Amino acid sequence: MPNFIQRAYPRKALQTPIRYMVSDSSQFRSTRTINFSMGGLCFETDQKLAPETEVCVVMDNYAPGISGPERYRSYLTRVRWNQPHSVPSKDIFFAGTQIMACSHDVFISSGEEPCHICDLCGAVMQECLIECTEENAQLCGPCHRHYRTIPEGQISKCVERFLIGNVV
Ligand SMILES: [Zn+2]
Repeated sequence: MPNFIQRAYPRKALQTPIRYMVSDSSQFRSTRTINFSMGGLCFETDQKLAPETEVCVVMDNYAPGISGPERYRSYLTRVRWNQPHSVPSKDIFFAGTQIMACSHDVFISSGEEPCHICDLCGAVMQECLIECTEENAQLCGPCHRHYRTIPEGQISKCVERFLIGNVV
């Protein structure tokens, strides 16, 4: 179980291709990240993004199971700051965003559909994508597939109890 409560969020430099969509637009723009932390993503933009703007970020190099930010396919973020690149001749900005939610699927706007949180990894998913275990723990697709690989018996009962304990 990852520890989501951290005192500090050290930033790590990372340049990886992403697409992002501002919540009042319906068009993705391609760019790349500059750095990331447990709680935020910083990326390049060619437009000014006002603080508090909601931005959906999709990782082009989605790879579930790794430890970096590409372990989720998409993020719902909120812009905290936006500053021009140090090269003034170019219209490039750095946007610092706070991660509000993460998902193994792409967020479809900041939706009307109710969202649920996976009992195992904490990822946000749409209601229609929930997989339930026999004891009614609600898991995302990748966690459910992982759960199904645990052989039936004492260990699977233990994991089940742990998941249910998590819910209550
Ligand atoms: Zn999960």
